[in-house]
Amino acid sequence: MVQLTDDCFAHGDRLMTADEALALIADVAKPVTDPEEVGLDAAPGRILAHDVVSERDVPPHPNAAVDGYAVFHEDLDPDGETRLPVTGRVPAGHALGRPARHNEAIRIFTGAPMPDGLDTILMQEDTRLEDDHVVLPSGIRRGANRRHAGEDIKSGATILKAGHRLKPQDVGLAASAGITSLPCYTKLKVALFSTGDEVTEPGEPLKPGAIYDANRYAVAGLLRGLGCDVTDLGILPDEGPDTRQAISEAARNHHALMTSGGVSVGDEDHVRQTIMAQGTLHAWYMAIKPGRPLMLGQTDGVAFIGLPGNPAAAIVTFLRFARPLILRLGGATNVNPTTFVVRAAFDRKKKSGRREYVRVHLERGNDGLLEAHAFEREGAGILSSLVDTDGLAELPEDMTQLEKGAMIEVLPFSEVIG
Ligand code: AMP
Ligand code: MG
Repeated sequence: MVQLTDDCFAHGDRLMTADEALALIADVAKPVTDPEEVGLDAAPGRILAHDVVSERDVPPHPNAAVDGYAVFHEDLDPDGETRLPVTGRVPAGHALGRPARHNEAIRIFTGAPMPDGLDTILMQEDTRLEDDHVVLPSGIRRGANRRHAGEDIKSGATILKAGHRLKPQDVGLAASAGITSLPCYTKLKVALFSTGDEVTEPGEPLKPGAIYDANRYAVAGLLRGLGCDVTDLGILPDEGPDTRQAISEAARNHHALMTSGGVSVGDEDHVRQTIMAQGTLHAWYMAIKPGRPLMLGQTDGVAFIGLPGNPAAAIVTFLRFARPLILRLGGATNVNPTTFVVRAAFDRKKKSGRREYVRVHLERGNDGLLEAHAFEREGAGILSSLVDTDGLAELPEDMTQLEKGAMIEVLPFSEVIG
C-alpha cells in the first residue's frame, strides 16, 4: 500500500539530520488513499486529488461594483455636471430587459448586470437627485465601478491544484464557479498507540511509579487537525509479543501507525524491537533536540511513525517530521510550513551538529519588531513548555553560539496546528 523504498537507513553511526529526514519523507511518501467526491460542506481541510477546472466565467456577466447610476461615458460632459433622466432600475439578480439608450441614466445596485452598452457607473454618494433626473459630476474615467465578466475566474482556468489542502476560501472559490463537490483523497486512517507499563489512562487510579497518558490525547488532536481518521488503540504494555500483535493487527485496516514511547535502545523499548524485527526502518536516531529517537519506517505494508515518549519531544517531532509525512501520505504536496525571521531575546551556547528546537514565546520589542523569548524549562518532558509558548525557534546545526539580538527562524504553532 505504501511505496516507501527499502534502502534508506544507510547512515551507519552518523545521526540523520533534520533536512535529510525531510528530503527522505519528500522522496518516499506518496499518496496511499483513493480519490472520492466530497461535498463542499465537508471539503475544508481535505486534500485535492485532481486539479479543478472552472467551466464558467466568474462573475458570469459584467456587473456593478457599487450602488449608483450606469451611463455611457461619452454622454458625460467632461467640463461640468451632466443632468440625465433616470429611466430604468436594475437590482441585483435582474436585467434591464432592453438595450440602453444614449442620454439616460439607469439606477443600478451592486452585483446587478450592466445593461448592454453602458460602460461606467457613478457612485450614488457622488450624485444628487433632482426630481426624476440625476446630476452627475465630471471627471470619472470610462469603465469606473464596472466589473468584467470572468475577472475573478476565466472559463477553462485551473482554479485549484491537486495536492492542495483545501482552505475555506478555496471551497468558496469552487462554489462561486458552480461546483458542488470536489475530488479529494479519502481520509488517511491512522492507528494511534501509547506505550509503556507506567502510562495510565486519565481517570484511572495512578499506581506507584505511573504517570498519565499525555501523548495520545495531544497526538490524536494533531492528527485530526490534519484531517486524519484516527483510531485510538489505547496503551500498549511493555511486552514484546503484545506490541508485535497489536501493530500487525492495526496495519490491516489503517494507512499509517503512530506510537509514542518505546523507541530508544533500552530493553523495554519494544516498539523499536518490533519494527526492527518485522518492518523496515528509514530513519531512527536524528541529529535534533528534543526528540533524538524518532522512528520513521514501515511495517506490515503500511507507514510507521514511532514518536519519542517524552511529551514535548513527541509533539515537536510530530510537528516537524510526522506532519509532513502524514500530509504526503494523505496526498498533500505543499507540506512545508512557513517560518518567520524574528529577533532572539536570548543567548545560547549550543552543540554543533544538531538542530535545536527552542520553545519560544513572541513579544514585540520597543522598536515594534517581534522578539523570541526562550521558555525557561527546556526538558523534553516539560509539556508546559508547549502550552506557554507560541512556536519553535530553529537553531541550525552549524550554530555554536546564539547571540541575543541575532535574527533567527521561528515556526509559529499557528502554522502547523489547527
Ligand atoms: P520511553 O521512550 O518509552 O522510554 O519514554 C520516555 C519518557 O516519556 C518516559 O519518562 C515515559 O514515562 C514518558 N512517556 C512515554 N509515553 C508517554 C505518554 N503517552 N504520556 C506521557 N509521558 C510518556
Ligand atoms: Mg516506555
